[in-house]
Amino acid sequence: MSETYEFLHTAGQHPREFSGGMSTATPTRTAWRRVAVALVLIAFVLIVVIAVQQSLAAASAIDRSVPESGAETAPAGSVFAPSEADGVIIDGDEPTVFDVDRAAVKNLDPALLDALQRAATDAADDGVEFRLNSGWRSPELQQHTLDEAVDDYGSTEEAARWVATPETSAHVSGDAVDLGPWSGLDWLVQHGSRYGLCQIYGNEPWHYELRPDAVSEGCPPMYRDPTEDPRTGG
Ligand SMILES: [Zn+2]
Repeated sequence: MSETYEFLHTAGQHPREFSGGMSTATPTRTAWRRVAVALVLIAFVLIVVIAVQQSLAAASAIDRSVPESGAETAPAGSVFAPSEADGVIIDGDEPTVFDVDRAAVKNLDPALLDALQRAATDAADDGVEFRLNSGWRSPELQQHTLDEAVDDYGSTEEAARWVATPETSAHVSGDAVDLGPWSGLDWLVQHGSRYGLCQIYGNEPWHYELRPDAVSEGCPPMYRDPTEDPRTGG
């Protein structure tokens, strides 16, 4: 340590000793400048290396926190772990409306599923596909989703703008789907009412339900968000 200190001390002091009226750099002074520049570069590289190591460590910590099954982990204190049979849909494994072996699709109201399948068949002619990000959900999954939303949004009131209770959710009754991708939603905005498929909430462009009258009358005005929906008691 003392060698390093001496070295840095000397390197720092040296230019000041010669700062009095020198207009040309001596070879020694040039050499000291090079040393100073090299020290700055070394310090910079060390800082970058440490920063990269720390971010890699943080990234691997995040990786380890993701369960290998891909399923969501139940919050602490909860014994419920949602599964495929509850209508769970995992990112990257979103079913089409024809994947009736999936609980989220199979348990939808038959009239809604029929409308979705007819729409999807016609959309396919336009090169557009629908995927379900959510469909039917078990009451247990809905409660789990609501609990998570309260955690995420910080209050029951704010969570209620996005997630219904098991008693009021149109997903639990099999009367609603959350669709993607955006190209599919674009198609539904233009053609959905022909099949009775309507967006219900202004803040949820992905949430569709069946409104049979829409075939002849067009979709009804949207609620701004679920709290305005009388079904959810808002
Ligand atoms: Zn929805």
